[in-house]
Amino acid sequence: MSETVAQEKILKGINASPGICIGKAYRVDKEGVNVVEKYYIKDKQRQGEVKRFKAAVKKARDEFQTILKNRPEELQRDYILETHIALLKDKMLYGRTVETIQTEGVNAEWALKKIVSNLKATFEKMGDEYLKERASDVVHVSDAIMRNLVGVASNNIAAIDKRVILVANDLSPADTSQINLARIKGFITNRGGKASHTGIMAQALEIPAVVGLETATIAIKSDALIIVDGNTGTVIIDPSEQTLFEYEERKNSYEDYKAVITRESHLGAETTDGVQLEVMANIEFPEEVISVKNYGGDGIGLYRTEFQYMSRPEFPNEEELFGKYREVVELMDPKPTTIRTLDINGDKAIANQSGLDEANPALGLRAIRYCLRKPDVFRTQLRAILRAAAFGNVRILFPMIAAYFEICEAIKAMDDAAESLEKDGLPYKREIEIGIMIEVPSAVVLADLLAEKADFFSIGTNDLIQYALAIDRGNRNVAHLYQPLDPAVLRLIKRVADVSREKGIEVFMCGEMAATARHIPLLLGLGMDELSMNPQSIPRAKRVLRSLSASDAQSLAREALKKKTARGVFEMIQSTYGDIISELEYH
Ligand code: PEP
Ligand code: MG
Repeated sequence: MSETVAQEKILKGINASPGICIGKAYRVDKEGVNVVEKYYIKDKQRQGEVKRFKAAVKKARDEFQTILKNRPEELQRDYILETHIALLKDKMLYGRTVETIQTEGVNAEWALKKIVSNLKATFEKMGDEYLKERASDVVHVSDAIMRNLVGVASNNIAAIDKRVILVANDLSPADTSQINLARIKGFITNRGGKASHTGIMAQALEIPAVVGLETATIAIKSDALIIVDGNTGTVIIDPSEQTLFEYEERKNSYEDYKAVITRESHLGAETTDGVQLEVMANIEFPEEVISVKNYGGDGIGLYRTEFQYMSRPEFPNEEELFGKYREVVELMDPKPTTIRTLDINGDKAIANQSGLDEANPALGLRAIRYCLRKPDVFRTQLRAILRAAAFGNVRILFPMIAAYFEICEAIKAMDDAAESLEKDGLPYKREIEIGIMIEVPSAVVLADLLAEKADFFSIGTNDLIQYALAIDRGNRNVAHLYQPLDPAVLRLIKRVADVSREKGIEVFMCGEMAATARHIPLLLGLGMDELSMNPQSIPRAKRVLRSLSASDAQSLAREALKKKTARGVFEMIQSTYGDIISELEYH
């Protein structure tokens, strides 16, 4: 008996938005403008060339506005298109292109290309994933202008009338905004990373997406049958019957699982013996508040505010910051919003600080150190936070405190900001909870002193592991040593938890460690009062917590603290909780 086996092919990329979809591929071949010619414009005609450029910008603006008007409900609160519209008139892009046409006498296409490639290189050099992605915003905007200058049509995703999976080299947020949920099952792209806006938008639309596949547009032909697994970042082309069957099952079980845990996620996270933990969300952008609510977050445990400072040449002013914070705070009220003050530099370098050239940025003028050296920048943010606090439940959180004087100075800056608001007669609230990020070993050692100045601690394991184990969190070569379960890390967490209890303050965790189902029994046992994580992980964390007993978890933590290696701790958790966890981690 002969059997035909389909030649299936597997591609691996980055899981940008969870879920599984199966369907026909639809290639979105964007008519980009690849070849740009350079020619010179006579003095007298340069104004005309500038006008031609301005007309192309205006047309791009009109196109963006139309897309904005027609975008789906789910994306109404996503501001990326507004950002693109603003970018069209940005000094660095628009202003400099006009200047180049005028001073160098080159054609508009060439001037634009030159300015964009410089800007892109500046962003890409920054070494930070988020900023690298912002380079793509500049490219999307300039593509739209370029198409208008050259006169090629843009592709119209809104017109697709089949139930398909989009396959593209890259999708701009403008493209993603045109996705018709009734037609598009999911999408995959060659480009894009973890922090790409297209990924964030796919999550908001709740469609599966895999990005960063590099060769998807070469390997996949239109109409090919493909499976997209947004949970694992896998794409299967021409699947065999057996694979298809398996994925149909997986898709159904994922959908059932998601429906159940999402429904349940609005329940509290109470252990079987009645200990109640809060499960909060980490966010970077105000538009993520919708996901926090959908996934049953008990509040925002970490609002990383630095991203508003990073993708632009000028720092935001007080009104702008206040507007953003107020929006988040009002949407979350009465649940708390924990606003962390600026944590820039280190691996999150800022565009307009090019003067800062540090050999060891992670140990440099980062976070609170930067703010205390730039009182004006700090004051602007503190005023915005205190003003937003008048509109809901706000907590403030100071990053990277390594010494006692730093928290004293931070609080003094907060008092000064409150005093200046009082003088200006603006509404504000000073009596808010104050938190300290525990992410430097010296803060653990000094925890008893720091506790006198704070209402809560929030353990940032991403950095605490880096600084305690001397492992650069972004260095691939030592990634295998970056172990949250390292006994040294566990002892540090234990000390922070013990001091918090002694001093009567609360202890939270907002590092990635808290988002992993496997770590949760241990964190419960170590006495965390609150865990904060990316919004999608909340339902799973709540489910794990509801299945645990706090007193058993305390015994586990006691035993884990006797282990000598991360592996030993891992194996212990596996032998005690393996069953519960593997069921959840499978999805
Ligand atoms: C951390 O260090 O664990 C943390 C939550 O902060 P970030 O990842 O923003 O440095
Ligand atoms: Mg940190």
